[in-house]
Amino acid sequence: MERATREVFWNVSLVWFFYTLSALAIGAFVLGAYRIVSIWRRGWKDSRRGKPSASLSRTVADGLLNRKIFRNDRIAGLMHLCIMWGFIVLFVGTVLLTIHHDVAPFLFGTTFLVYSLVLDIAGLVLIVGVTTALVRRYVIKARPMNNLFDDGVVLVALLGIAVTGFALEGLRLTALEPFQDDWSPVGTAFAAILDGLPGQPQAWHGVIWWTHAAVSLGLVIYIPLSKLFHMFAAPTNIYLAAAEAATLTLEEREKLVGDFERTQMVSFDACTKCNRCENVCPSFAAGEPLSPRGFVLNVKAFARRKYGIETRLPGKARESVTALQVGDMIEEDAAWWCTTCRACVEECPVSISPMDVIRETRVAQMADGRKVPPTVRDMLRTMSKHNNPWEAGGSKRSRWRQELGAKDLSAGDEAEVCYWISCIASDDLRNQEVARAFIQVLSHAGVDFAHLGKEEGCCGEFVKRLGEDGLFEAIVENNYATFAAYGVSDLVTTSPHCFHTMRRDYPALREKLNIDGAPQLHVRHHTAAIADLLESGKLTFTRRLDSRVTFHDPCYIGRHNGLYEQPRRVLRALPGVELVEMPRSRENSFCCGGGGGRMWLESTADQRMAEIRVREAAAVKVDVLVTACPFCMSNLHDAAKTAGYAEVMEVRDIAELVAEAL
Ligand code: SF4
Ligand code: SF4
Repeated sequence: MERATREVFWNVSLVWFFYTLSALAIGAFVLGAYRIVSIWRRGWKDSRRGKPSASLSRTVADGLLNRKIFRNDRIAGLMHLCIMWGFIVLFVGTVLLTIHHDVAPFLFGTTFLVYSLVLDIAGLVLIVGVTTALVRRYVIKARPMNNLFDDGVVLVALLGIAVTGFALEGLRLTALEPFQDDWSPVGTAFAAILDGLPGQPQAWHGVIWWTHAAVSLGLVIYIPLSKLFHMFAAPTNIYLAAAEAATLTLEEREKLVGDFERTQMVSFDACTKCNRCENVCPSFAAGEPLSPRGFVLNVKAFARRKYGIETRLPGKARESVTALQVGDMIEEDAAWWCTTCRACVEECPVSISPMDVIRETRVAQMADGRKVPPTVRDMLRTMSKHNNPWEAGGSKRSRWRQELGAKDLSAGDEAEVCYWISCIASDDLRNQEVARAFIQVLSHAGVDFAHLGKEEGCCGEFVKRLGEDGLFEAIVENNYATFAAYGVSDLVTTSPHCFHTMRRDYPALREKLNIDGAPQLHVRHHTAAIADLLESGKLTFTRRLDSRVTFHDPCYIGRHNGLYEQPRRVLRALPGVELVEMPRSRENSFCCGGGGGRMWLESTADQRMAEIRVREAAAVKVDVLVTACPFCMSNLHDAAKTAGYAEVMEVRDIAELVAEAL
């Protein structure tokens, strides 16, 4: 019996011409890819820290299994899996067919039949995926997408390749009527449909074969010219970005201002323009002129222009391009609107961090000095003069701290734990109440604590987010000297911003700068500290609160540090408290607008982020909107008044509820 197989170039003449076109298309692809990789290599070399095994498992989960695309949209996840795996299997099938034809024939009998079946299924899966994408993008507009030219071209080309591929198979089966047609179910179905075509199947086959070849080879050339290049850049970026970025000292940083790290350069090409980051950006939602997606694409255009031209130019001409600053390319003041809430990073399916790119741009603009908002410039001047962002702070805050009735390290007291009060909790009346409540909680639990009194300066967190790395480094050195002088290593704070920067930024700089005598810090946020006290039985609640509450996850304890459970455990333990969740909670929490130095920028948008958030809390009908951050407290407290909810809903810190229940 004749073995099942197929003649590769059945009914095709001018095969040599096809080979020539293929070689040209592959050459164009290689050149395009080489150009992109050379641009990547113009970024500064990072020394990220992480385990290759962890990077690999992230690449498998997010790159090959599309974990993050599934996160908030299962249909999108399935759709992308269909497109990606359909495409990969068809590509591998084409390579195998080439090997069979040009190197070593092996597609015979059962091997061929299985091969036909697998490719049939892959083609069908690709059609399902691409059709879903087209319908979601252009017909039902499943979510805001900002469609660009290559989005449509890529989808139509993929659909064209899959459909013409099946048409070819159908016409071949019609003409040859081979015995293996049962193993090509979709091809057989196409054969039945195309059977009624007028004229010879061979004639139709010839026309469609060259159309199929032209679209396929065109797509090969188009890969490095379009978003399709993300098929290489995305897994590369996911792998690289899984490792933690290095912290740079001022000396290192000064040499690199205006340029981007290699991983960031890769990330620009990994962007699939899916719009997810924009859809979750609070600044964009409030109507401010910032789109994380737009930002990444703008910086990519800048990098392409600067380094793309640079790689081709010699001598003098190159120098003029090298002088191009990122500030020349980024629209107006977009970088300053970012709250560094990290929602875009959490949402991006390919591990791009628009937030870090934005900070890098701020660093460049800060060094350049041209586009720094005047209010930010004034605040930084005050910071460097008075070691706090509010000039009035100084002696007033020292007096207030002395009146707290807690031990004061600067007055010669000693204690195991240092309560880092923070600037805003010292200077803002509403947040002073929170500090008092937390002191009450610590005292009730018998914690041996003290504050730093007049010696507590600013942690410098927003200075870092605003891109003033020089001042930040000076603040860190100064604070380490204070910690060393007063024997402080165990800290607790009510501010997620102080917590984050002392936990993440300080140790990296301590290591890099080799600061003399700097202690190793153990920093906790008060939500975690209260949860620990609760667990160890040191808090006894005697009063029922009888409240329906919801928790607003502050970005810097939630998305930045993963403390989602601790505050909820505390709230659930409070007698008479019913905890309900807002639709956007935990990693999907919506920023109040206070981070990233935004407290020193007045928004010109129609609505404030905090007002959007207060409305979300009011929609779940709670008596209390609970938070655990002084910036959130300030913003939400004001927003409850301006949005008209002050009478029906209180805004309180978790420490205040705990203190009340004691
Ligand atoms: S960090 Fe937040 S505010 Fe900044 S771009 Fe991303 S989503 Fe928008
Ligand atoms: S940065 Fe990430 S989330 Fe934003 S458009 Fe690009 S791929 Fe999508």
